[in-house]
Amino acid sequence: MSKRDYYDVLGVSKDASKDEIKKSYRKLARKYHPDVSQEEDAAEKFKEVKEAYEVLSDQQKRQQYDQFGHAGAQQGAGGQGFGFEDFGDFGDIFDMFFGGGRRRRDPNAPRQGQDLQYTMEVEFEEAIFGKETTIEIPKEEKCDTCDGSGAKPGTSVHTCSHCNGSGQLNMEQNTPFGRVVNRRVCHYCDGTGKQVEEKCQTCGGDGQVKTRKKIDINIPAGVDDGQQIRVTGHGGPGVNGGPAGDLYVVIRVKRHEFFERDGDDILCEMPITFTQAALGDEIEVPTVHGRVKLKVPAGTQTGTHFRLKGKGAPNVHGYGQGDQHILVKVMVPKNLNDQQKELLRQFHELSGDETLDEQQDNLFKRMKRAFKG
Ligand SMILES: [Zn+2]
Ligand SMILES: [Zn+2]
Repeated sequence: MSKRDYYDVLGVSKDASKDEIKKSYRKLARKYHPDVSQEEDAAEKFKEVKEAYEVLSDQQKRQQYDQFGHAGAQQGAGGQGFGFEDFGDFGDIFDMFFGGGRRRRDPNAPRQGQDLQYTMEVEFEEAIFGKETTIEIPKEEKCDTCDGSGAKPGTSVHTCSHCNGSGQLNMEQNTPFGRVVNRRVCHYCDGTGKQVEEKCQTCGGDGQVKTRKKIDINIPAGVDDGQQIRVTGHGGPGVNGGPAGDLYVVIRVKRHEFFERDGDDILCEMPITFTQAALGDEIEVPTVHGRVKLKVPAGTQTGTHFRLKGKGAPNVHGYGQGDQHILVKVMVPKNLNDQQKELLRQFHELSGDETLDEQQDNLFKRMKRAFKG
């Protein structure tokens, strides 16, 4: 399923102000909140709205999104992505609006780490032939000192006494309508359900540390601009023993001076002189696989297209090999000297329209008739 445009999701224009975006988001979030909406796909819509807001409310992410679309929006500063984890802090706002009742996840359940995205620029030829490389990305790793528990080694971790490990607190409130119970994230344990006696000094109790990690990436031959390479298990660390997320490397292929990619095919424009075009010649054309001889037949017109079979990019999924297409551009000479001009005049007097083939001749004659007066 393709993703909807974030601006469409929020129903705002591309130049909407921060306030407009926020207002629209609040309206839609209330409408689709899974606890109140009767609509069948409310949860999906709510997630979509929230995701759109997360991007458009953040100036940097919004800029990236405007420039690169969905792929760009998921890339944060320095190549570190951000995940669409859960409803997060917004839950509290809605608990206040709707009096709780939201089903919160068990804070102790294993969860997969977030997926990260990293954008990598490669040369045109590198995308054709592939390469092995190493990237260094900033990422969160499980803290080795405390093995992710957040507790100083030798001290104990116990169940949060305030929420009994549930990560939530019930807040009773007397209102004119009676007693209302709001469920909130436990602020003693930040919703983790656990409390440590003494925090680990390495990670400050987070259980995670920021590191730079080197990862070997194998860029497959034939990869194209915008394609992603998934590196399993190199995303953010899992929580409560869950598996790590995945890393997605988005490939950006640099433009080439002469070549252009069209899927597995490569396009190239080739200038030839008008005498080569008229008399025919054997020329050398560049391909990514080296120079190739190409016979240009006499009478070749500008815009003629030749195909060099198998001289394109290999298919990234292993289905054969693309071709190179050559588009001939006949160059009309400029800066002629007197002798050259004279020879061309002689040529003209000698040949007139006779050098045209039947089709060109017919067109020429019809045009002459049409514009005679
Ligand atoms: Zn607690
Ligand atoms: Zn630690």
